[in-house]
Amino acid sequence: MSKLLILTAPSGAGKTTVVRHLLKTRNDLAFSISATTRAMRPHETEGKDYYFISPEKFRDLIAKDEFVEWEEVYTNQFYGTLKDEINRLWGMGKHIIFDIDVKGALNLKRIFPDNSLAIFVKPPSKEILFERLRQRKTETEESLKKRLARAEEELSYQNKFDHILVNDVLERALKEAEEVVAAFLSV
Ligand code: 5GP
Repeated sequence: MSKLLILTAPSGAGKTTVVRHLLKTRNDLAFSISATTRAMRPHETEGKDYYFISPEKFRDLIAKDEFVEWEEVYTNQFYGTLKDEINRLWGMGKHIIFDIDVKGALNLKRIFPDNSLAIFVKPPSKEILFERLRQRKTETEESLKKRLARAEEELSYQNKFDHILVNDVLERALKEAEEVVAAFLSV
């Protein structure tokens, strides 16, 4: 049976690195490409990192009930998992790995309680998380402020997850992620 690996974290905790590592080390996983209305960043590719769509198109997909879950992660920035995307990856016979916000992760866990593992990637401290976000420099001052506020709130949900992965020393965290995922997929 195909399973779902749901990775979440406050923005800046290093979740994307963990997701990429798992995809590199296992060929039975496929990444769930979300739809989003935010602007494409340099180095991102349409249809690989996200499906970049207009707010109108996003609203239309909501109205047609095409999403498994969606969230307005930041004001006027919508992100969602399409039912078609899940079906596409299941059709390939893969387990699906999600890089998704905390509320979306809890929603997926609720929808697929029996075959999902929800992992919360946690920064070693709030201070380190905030510093990482500041150093990212892909954000405007306004957008950075929104991300800091959201990160603070997201940290408060950590105990609702199946596994908390502390991202202190990256190599160690990646190894732990491999082990937790291997154990979950082997049963
Ligand atoms: P970013 O703009 O940095 O790529 O992503 C912002 C946040 O949106 C991240 O926490 C990311 O995991 C989350 N996100 C990405 N795709 C989805 C999705 O399909 N649904 C939800 N709920 N959150 C998502």
